[in-house]
Amino acid sequence: MNIILLGAPGAGKGTQAEIICDKLQIPTVSTGNIIREALKSGTDMGKKAKSFVDKGKLVPDEVVIGIVKERIKKDDCKAGFILDGFPRTISQAEALDDMGVSIDRVVDIEVDDQEILKRMSGRRVCEKCGASYNINSKKPKVEGVCDRCAGTLVQRMDDSLDTVKERLSVYHEQTKPLKGYYEAQGKLVTVDGQQELSKITDDIIREIEA
Ligand code: AMP
Repeated sequence: MNIILLGAPGAGKGTQAEIICDKLQIPTVSTGNIIREALKSGTDMGKKAKSFVDKGKLVPDEVVIGIVKERIKKDDCKAGFILDGFPRTISQAEALDDMGVSIDRVVDIEVDDQEILKRMSGRRVCEKCGASYNINSKKPKVEGVCDRCAGTLVQRMDDSLDTVKERLSVYHEQTKPLKGYYEAQGKLVTVDGQQELSKITDDIIREIEA
């Protein structure tokens, strides 16, 4: 089963992807995590992406499309995968269609802008494995330490207020139109992202299995 999680930055796509991939036993492909890894290790791709990520802009389509194309060819994606943070533009969605990838469901996690701004200030991510937490709503068992790998939890550079505002406006302009794109293909389902975490997961699973 191939699934796309759509939604604004901070809507909880990463958190839900982690839970659902464990339940469905398929990997998550997160372009944001792959790009952050490349930034950390200073690869050519990381160097190309840095100025865009730092400003809250989208990395050019050809770069992210290349990342996804390579990643989903790997063996662990054969039984399906969850795309978190891709596609983010109509061109990326078209490229996915051109790759011959058949998408089963596109789950839009809806959260309003005010709530997004509130959440982003509490967001923390593991600098080692990329797992996400929130100091208000999804606390780790030990403060500042990742439950999964014991890595250190940090605030993302691009979670500063100005960058978040830019990322939200990019979302409204370039990513939100994907809802119409996938609605026209009959694949879009919508979930209320402002409920309790477990309720959101239940709704997503129900929609995926429907
Ligand atoms: P995320 O963790 O998904 O919010 O991604 C962090 C940053 O990585 C974004 O603000 C973009 O700069 C970049 N990025 C991640 N996914 C994409 C994508 N599909 N297209 C373009 N840029 C992306």
